[in-house]
Amino acid sequence: MAELSQILLLGMDHSELTALVDSVGEPAYRAKQLLEAVYRQRVESIDEISTLSLELRLALAEKGVSIGLPRIEQRFVSQDGTVRYLIGLADGQSVETVWMPEGDGGEAGDGSEAGDEAESFSLGTSGAKALSEREATAALKRCATQKQGPDQPQDQDQGQDQGQKQYQSQAQAQGLDLKQNRRRKQGQNQGRSTICISSQVGCAVDCQFCLTALLGVKRNLTAGEIVGQVCVVLKDQKVSPPEDRINLVFMGMGEPFLNYDNFVKAVRLLVEEVGIAERRMTVSTAGIVPRIHDLGAEKIRPKLAISLNASNDELRTRLMPLNKKWNLEMLMAAAKAYPLRTREWITFEYVLMGGVNDGPENAREVAELLRGMKCKVNLIALNPGPGIEFTTPEAERVAAFQTVLREAGVPAFVRRPRGRDIYAACGQLKRTVEIATAAAPSIELL
Ligand code: SF4
Repeated sequence: MAELSQILLLGMDHSELTALVDSVGEPAYRAKQLLEAVYRQRVESIDEISTLSLELRLALAEKGVSIGLPRIEQRFVSQDGTVRYLIGLADGQSVETVWMPEGDGGEAGDGSEAGDEAESFSLGTSGAKALSEREATAALKRCATQKQGPDQPQDQDQGQDQGQKQYQSQAQAQGLDLKQNRRRKQGQNQGRSTICISSQVGCAVDCQFCLTALLGVKRNLTAGEIVGQVCVVLKDQKVSPPEDRINLVFMGMGEPFLNYDNFVKAVRLLVEEVGIAERRMTVSTAGIVPRIHDLGAEKIRPKLAISLNASNDELRTRLMPLNKKWNLEMLMAAAKAYPLRTREWITFEYVLMGGVNDGPENAREVAELLRGMKCKVNLIALNPGPGIEFTTPEAERVAAFQTVLREAGVPAFVRRPRGRDIYAACGQLKRTVEIATAAAPSIELL
């Protein structure tokens, strides 16, 4: 007997679902019902789709159709609320997906809209004195926590407290969009959670400071598996965009630009069907130059982040061997040619490693590389891990690096590590069940 071939709905777009329902003699509107069930309701089985007739559900099952939602194999919960998920795929492989709950107060420079708000606040407009990131974030937090509760005044204007007024006048002075300010007052800016998703099982890029690189690459994820990570995490966290404001970063395992077609299809599905706005997404590349050009031509695209990590070719080739193929000159040319949209910046990520790339001379070289570009730099002190030869830099060196960049006119932000205790921070994703079991103080097994 011929084996039933598996048809997975997750990953299919409207036209593919229309063809599928047509193949079982059903009208096109059934495709819309499937889209709604798969991407908005995030059902786990066809039986749960109550809008379909029993007959149609049986016909789909006979055809070998299933949803294809990946399963959560394990959860590792950090002291800071970050959750690292081990997500099981149909062929027995697994990837990691990280949930970073709200509470950052808008991490400046993280690529999220919340981060942009913090940045626009801390950077100010030309001529205005820039606030420190700490001051800006504190002001944002003051506002964000002032939701309209039953015991709070209904008249928002009357209900402003001193902190809010102070924030508002600062915001006006700094040119911050007052619509954003109003949204905060109305308590609509509470959800700032971020999901970090993987694009490949493992990674082939071999960055010397990254635990994922130690796995090598096993395979690309399908578009359905990329979207599926988001769907299972949303379901598990009981949140639902667009009502809940969710940011996505393609910064988990793998290099998205080495799985470009599936990545682009996943982005379209996440925007059009799951309901997450493209301005809330950021994709990070190690520097696959031709795909940077390709992304710039996409109609629907996340914001771009480039993992820089070195200030000259010699150092970058040592830390990121792909620099031999696409060196800094090529990378910077692609970044400078990248077509930015209104209010869009390129983010450069720079992992600081003690005594390796964290000196003031490195910072000066970075400032020179980025001169004249509409960009910002996220500084990330190396997240340590077994098998990685580099160390975390001293806090003073991180601060000094940031100062050199800022004095050179380059907006630079130090990223707060999230989930470091459970190996969920940047560069730490390695499906490290055994390592995490040894290291993590709080582990929740399913
Ligand atoms: S840093 Fe990113 S691109 Fe480099 S090896 Fe790790 S996962 Fe791959």
